[in-house]
Amino acid sequence: MRIFVAGIATETNSFSPIFVGLDDFKASLYAAPYKHPETPTLCTAALVVLRQRAKKDGIDLIEGTTSWADPGGLISQQCYETLRDEILAQVTAAIKQQPLDGVVLCLHGAMIAQGYDDPEGELICQIRKLVGDKTIIGANLDPHSHLTAKRFEYADILCAFKEFPHTDFVQTGEQIVDLVIRSIKGEIKPKMAQYDCKMIDIFPSSRQPMRQFVDDMLDGERQQGVLSLSLIHGFMAGDSPWMGTKMIAIYDDNMDIAAHLAKDFGDKIISIRGQSMPSMLTEDIAVEQALLVVTKQQTPVIIADVWDNPGGGVAGDGTIILQSLLSLKPKNTNIKIAIGTIWDPMAVQLCFKAGIGAIIPLRFGAKSAPNTGQPIDKMVTVINLNAEAAQTFGASQVPMGASVVIEFEGVQVILNSTRAQAFEPSLFENMGIEPLSQDILVIKSTNHFYAGFNKISDHIIYCDAGKPYPNNPKTTAYTKAPKNIWPLVDDPWGCVDDP
Ligand SMILES: [Zn+2]
Repeated sequence: MRIFVAGIATETNSFSPIFVGLDDFKASLYAAPYKHPETPTLCTAALVVLRQRAKKDGIDLIEGTTSWADPGGLISQQCYETLRDEILAQVTAAIKQQPLDGVVLCLHGAMIAQGYDDPEGELICQIRKLVGDKTIIGANLDPHSHLTAKRFEYADILCAFKEFPHTDFVQTGEQIVDLVIRSIKGEIKPKMAQYDCKMIDIFPSSRQPMRQFVDDMLDGERQQGVLSLSLIHGFMAGDSPWMGTKMIAIYDDNMDIAAHLAKDFGDKIISIRGQSMPSMLTEDIAVEQALLVVTKQQTPVIIADVWDNPGGGVAGDGTIILQSLLSLKPKNTNIKIAIGTIWDPMAVQLCFKAGIGAIIPLRFGAKSAPNTGQPIDKMVTVINLNAEAAQTFGASQVPMGASVVIEFEGVQVILNSTRAQAFEPSLFENMGIEPLSQDILVIKSTNHFYAGFNKISDHIIYCDAGKPYPNNPKTTAYTKAPKNIWPLVDDPWGCVDDP
C-alpha cells in the first residue's frame, strides 16, 4: 500500500492587514519531505499518525512538504503557488515510480490567496487529476473553514476537528488515516454527504448547547455504518463564496443514510443558533469585575481578549484592555498583572539590544490596525529574553518567535515576534512568569485558551474590546460571502421558528 501525505494550512481573515508570505510559513512550520518533527501540529497530526501506522502495517509512506502559517490576511499568489507546485511535483514524482493508493492532505481549509478563492479545493482537484479516480483522497480540516464545492467533489473523505478548543486534533488525524487505509483495503466504501445550514455562528464546545452537540456526534460515530460526522462551523472573517456552517456525514456504502444524517445534525445546529457564545463584557467592565473579585480568588482571574486573537488572523497587538487596567487599577496596589502576549517585533528587537535588566523608553502595541487602542509609551525594565519562545497546545509546540518580558507599574507584558494566540499557561511559564503567582492574566484568544487556562483559574472573563475582528456578520462588508444566510437575513430557511 502506497500513501502520499502533504499539506498546506492556514486561515485567511480577509479583513486583516497582516499579509501572509512564505516567510510566515517558515516562521511557523515549513517541513520539507521527511523533515516534519515527531510532534504533531494542529493540522499535521495525520502525518505523524501515518508514520506510526506505516511502521506497524508496512505501508510505503511518501512524505511531501507540510506547512502551516499562523492565521493572517490574504496569502500572496507566489507563496500559494510555490507551496502548491512543490506538492504537485512530489505527487508527480511518486506516481512515476508506482501508482498511489491513497493521498492524505493536512489542511486547515480557510485559506484565501491572491487570485484563488479556494486554494485547497484547487490543490485537491489538481492532485485528483494526477492520481486518477481510484486513489482515495482524504483530508483533515479545521471546522473554521469553508466547505467549497471543489473540495467536496474531488476528495473522498473530509474530517474536521469536533472540539473547539481543537483538543481532538490528534484523534481527527487518526480518524482520517484509519478511514483512508480501510478504504484502500476495501473494508469500507465511504459515501460523503453535506448539508448547508445557511448560517454562520461561533460554536465553543466547552459549554452548552454545543457540548451536547459534539457528544451527539461522538455517539453517532459509534453507530454501525457511520464512518465520520463533522460540523464545518465556517469562518466569518473569510470573505469566501462558500462561507457558512455545513454538516458533513460519511456513511459506509449508503449515500441516502449519509444525506439523512447530515440533514438531521444540520437541523440541530440551526435550532441552537445564536446560543453558543458566552456573554462578553466591555473592557472597562471586565477590568472592574476582575479588580473586584481578585482579592477573593485563590487562582488568577483570566481576562480573554476574545477578538484580538491572532488565531483568527488579526495582529494580536491590541492594547485596549491593558489601557483599562492601567487607568482603573488602584495606585500603589500590589495586584500582580501579566499580559500574554502583545505582538510587536520592532519593540522585541529594541529590548534584545538593550538586554536583561536595562531600563528603556519603549513604545509598543497597537501599530497594526485601527480599533486596537493606542501604542503604549513607558519606561520599562527588560526582565527576560527568549530568542525562540514557544508554548504548548496539547502534544504540539507553538512557536512565538523571539520574545521578551517587560515590566512597568507592576504589570509584566510578554512581547512576541511570531504572532500566536494563547493556548496554555506554558505561554507564561516559558517566559519566566509563574502564572499561578499572578492575580490577573490577560490573554488573546477566542476559546482555544479554555482547555489549558480553565485548569488554573476559577474565574474567566470573556472581554469584547475594540474591533480588530469582523465579529458581526450583519455589519461586515462582505463582497463574496453568501448574503442569504443567518444572521444576515432572519430566516433563510423560510420555515424555522425563532429559537
Ligand atoms: Zn479552528
